[in-house]
Amino acid sequence: MRIRALVAVVGLLLTAVTVDALAVTQVKSMRLWRAPDNTRLVFDLSGPVQHSVFTLTAPDRLVIDINGATLGAPLNVSTSNTPITSVRSAQRTPTDLRVVVDLKKAVSPKSFTLAPNAQYGNRLVVDLYDQEADAIAASNPTPPPTPQPPATTPAVPVTPAQPAIKLPPPPSGKRDIVVAIDAGHGGEDPGASGSRGQHEKDIVLQIAKELQRQINTEKGYRAELTRTGDYFIPLRKRTEIARKKGADLFVSIHADAAPSKAAFGASVFALSDRGATSETARWLADTENRSDLIGGAGNVSLDDKDRMLAGVLLDLSMTATLSSSLNVGQKVLGNMGRVTPLHKQRVEQAGFMVLKSPDIPSILVETGFISNANEAAKLATRGHQQALARSIHTGVRQFFQQNPPPGTYIAWLRDSGKIAQGPREHTVRPGETLAMIAVRYQVSVAALRSSNSLKSDELKVGQHLDIPTTALASQ
Ligand SMILES: [Zn+2]
Repeated sequence: MRIRALVAVVGLLLTAVTVDALAVTQVKSMRLWRAPDNTRLVFDLSGPVQHSVFTLTAPDRLVIDINGATLGAPLNVSTSNTPITSVRSAQRTPTDLRVVVDLKKAVSPKSFTLAPNAQYGNRLVVDLYDQEADAIAASNPTPPPTPQPPATTPAVPVTPAQPAIKLPPPPSGKRDIVVAIDAGHGGEDPGASGSRGQHEKDIVLQIAKELQRQINTEKGYRAELTRTGDYFIPLRKRTEIARKKGADLFVSIHADAAPSKAAFGASVFALSDRGATSETARWLADTENRSDLIGGAGNVSLDDKDRMLAGVLLDLSMTATLSSSLNVGQKVLGNMGRVTPLHKQRVEQAGFMVLKSPDIPSILVETGFISNANEAAKLATRGHQQALARSIHTGVRQFFQQNPPPGTYIAWLRDSGKIAQGPREHTVRPGETLAMIAVRYQVSVAALRSSNSLKSDELKVGQHLDIPTTALASQ
């Protein structure tokens, strides 16, 4: 009796083990995101897998072996605007899945797996980096010391020209002030979501693009976006892009959610290494820093040299940078307070990863709470987005007029006494026309229209107008 029972138990155990071994992971779906220099494939999995990735040529293919997995659903994605022509799959063994990605041209693959988080289960991420982009990036920093005579130029295939940067030479070679605008989240990291399905990543990209447009209308300034479309960028990569673009200021734009649906209002944050200045600040920093868990930071790492340098720079310049960040943050906050309610009257501080540039003043702007139905609706409107962008722009301008980086056009304007003096915004009084205001501040009507996003020249009494910076007309 007793022995028979034992045999039965052992039998059961064996059955359980066998079933477990056969319970392979399912590949449930594949998603695709296109970034300027890479294509990201994300495989959603029912559990962990082992994997390997390699490339084949003639024709170019990428092979992804996913071991311990079967296909749960067809891998359907749109591959337009990507180097991918098609995606095929086959079971190599009953538990080993092979995915073959047919390519128009060779790519450099990087792959990693991600553990489950609040939004997603296990994932396998394969980033396909464009090879031309690598070549351009590598040849970017310095031109060759001596120009090659045309005769010796090898007959290489024509590579696509680098994107033309609109950069009119400023007088006496004075450079533009560069503002890096960082639209939070993107791609498979939607950020906060509103009750009507609004995604933070979409709203903040719209605001970031509007802010870029406004800043670029102003002489002496150039705005660069860290993200120009719907794709994921790891947090550290965002500051890296800003540094490569030569940013004098980093502005990260967000629209967040809070556990309390009643929370509302805009806030501006600077970095704190000591701890958050408020409960909300800490909560938001934790939420924002989670982005890398969602999108994966597996493809970015500082090498040892960078790490050491970062440590040294941090000690040397963090204090100065932080005081600039607080200064510009307070100016932005003050201007935002005229177009939207504020969550806090002062710049808050918390350990936001994206603000950890030791050498670039950096702020994070929460434009409002998307979890608040009222604010979510406002944030989605063009008019409110423009007003928010304008208020951020005004704060940035005020900061740089007082603190222009040496060697810039704005510094030159200030030092040569040519910067337009007086208030930089105007409240419309009865009887005033746009033309009168333009004359008064010695700017063009077109510049006034543009920096205030005016659709018509009709003004309302009491309306606030931004006055763009210009050099006084040279006599
Ligand atoms: Zn966010």
